[in-house]
Amino acid sequence: MNRRVLLAAAAAIGVAAMPFSVLAQAYPTKPITMIVPFAAGGPTDALARVLGQRMSEALGQQIVIENVGGAGGTIGVNKAAKATPDGYTLLFTHMGTLAVNIALYKSLPYDSQKDLEPIGLGGTNPMVLVVKKDLPVKNFAEFQAYVKANQKKVQYGMAGIGAASHLGGLMLNSMMQVEVLEIPYKGTGPALNDLVSGQFDYMVDQAVNVLAQIQAGNIKALGVSTLKPLPQLPGVPTIDATLKGYEVTIWNGFFAPKGTPKEIIAKVDQALLATLADEKIRARLTELAVDVPTPQEATPDGLRALLKASIDKWVPAVKAAGVKPE
Ligand code: ASP
Repeated sequence: MNRRVLLAAAAAIGVAAMPFSVLAQAYPTKPITMIVPFAAGGPTDALARVLGQRMSEALGQQIVIENVGGAGGTIGVNKAAKATPDGYTLLFTHMGTLAVNIALYKSLPYDSQKDLEPIGLGGTNPMVLVVKKDLPVKNFAEFQAYVKANQKKVQYGMAGIGAASHLGGLMLNSMMQVEVLEIPYKGTGPALNDLVSGQFDYMVDQAVNVLAQIQAGNIKALGVSTLKPLPQLPGVPTIDATLKGYEVTIWNGFFAPKGTPKEIIAKVDQALLATLADEKIRARLTELAVDVPTPQEATPDGLRALLKASIDKWVPAVKAAGVKPE
């Protein structure tokens, strides 16, 4: 059946009476909502827009981003998990909201492995330790000494419990053995604005969000979270060079509510694969220091395996850092 025949059939018998698999063949026939569980202007939002724009061309329908921030992304993820599984509500989120937060909340309103269907990996992001411009430190060693000397006064920004910036910050603080104040935001887009205007001292956030402000000289980069320096930030050392074993990278992926028809998942995944094969998109992601997934990683099975591996890795690591669940 071609698409026009399907649409005519749907109109004739009423969409409600159409079997799901027939609807799946015609998919998508109207705009798709993509929930981003953080505020607009941050890294998750930025990547959703870069990828979503090209995916909507491949699908022939608009993808409309809905920012649902709060509680470290759990509010937005929960909204997506509970949405009708018809392919018209999808989710673009990161591993903090699906793996890390399991160790940080006494109870979560969703089970990331049972209530969501993985579609494919969208990208993997290094993080950067950034400090406000006038913090009186020039390098990581000076930063560490400053934070130690000013414990309980120094403030770091993060996007709520279980956010990527929370994970980056809590592993750093735990390894430096310091206690500092936490300033929560609905996303690191708004947090970055406040760091630029000097309202708190530091943040560990995805490179995609902070590169432009570092390059403009509005904040200082003191270390990267990967085991190798980033070509996009020449001269910035790894945090691991001082704090052996510090390594945090954050993946972003596409999900659908559990029960979304397999045919729909496959169609969205095809659009993702076409997007990731597009040279312009690949160049843009590289410019933003985002690692482009392999075709295998950008599939439901690839993402399912990555989610499980991330839970296995981060839940014990966060517990070992001594953070109590809230
Ligand atoms: N970077 C944020 C986080 O810390 C999320 C965001 O605003 O995209 O999880």
